Amino acid sequence: MINNALVLIKPDGIRKAIVGNVLTKLSETKLDILGIKIVKVTKNLARQHYQNLKDKPFFENLLNYIQGNIYEIPCNKILAFIYHGENAILRIRDIIGDTNPEKAKPTSIRGAYGRITTNGLFENVIHCSSDLIEAEREIKLWFKPEEILMEIYPTKEIITQEKKRVWL
Ligand code: UDP
Ligand code: MG
Repeated sequence: MINNALVLIKPDGIRKAIVGNVLTKLSETKLDILGIKIVKVTKNLARQHYQNLKDKPFFENLLNYIQGNIYEIPCNKILAFIYHGENAILRIRDIIGDTNPEKAKPTSIRGAYGRITTNGLFENVIHCSSDLIEAEREIKLWFKPEEILMEIYPTKEIITQEKKRVWL
């Protein structure tokens, strides 16, 4: 089944300068990429992304982590990708490995580059949607329709009077 997956290289992936290594690993899937962007992560975006974990004891730590606030020099950005193709979600999740970097296969992305912080958070470099419903919700949260090269979900046109910045 053809599906879409939201992939995020989290702030630790950027801070550790392993973006190239991570993308090389992901390219083993031969999946298509339909969207790429660099995003400054606000607390609001972080909360919405991880809304299903809001009752977990590590939620506040997780928000700080995804906003890049846990480093001596803050790294408040992530890289976002939409991967598309046959069983995209399953194939990417296989390459990224278990959520817990200690349990992840050493050759997986999380096994090779992740760590557990002293307060017990899994700092695991990369996010990938876990199922079709989550992928759709996350892709719509991180991307606007015009930032995606294919109409993967239905869209409609509306007229707005939104204030926006344009080139001088
Ligand atoms: N997480 C953690 N401890 C846990 C479970 C999750 O620190 O016991 C963090 C980890 O960074 C993980 C994220 O919360 O990637 C989202 O958790 P989820 O259960 O959705 O795992 P994932 O889908 O990322 O494998
Ligand atoms: Mg998840």
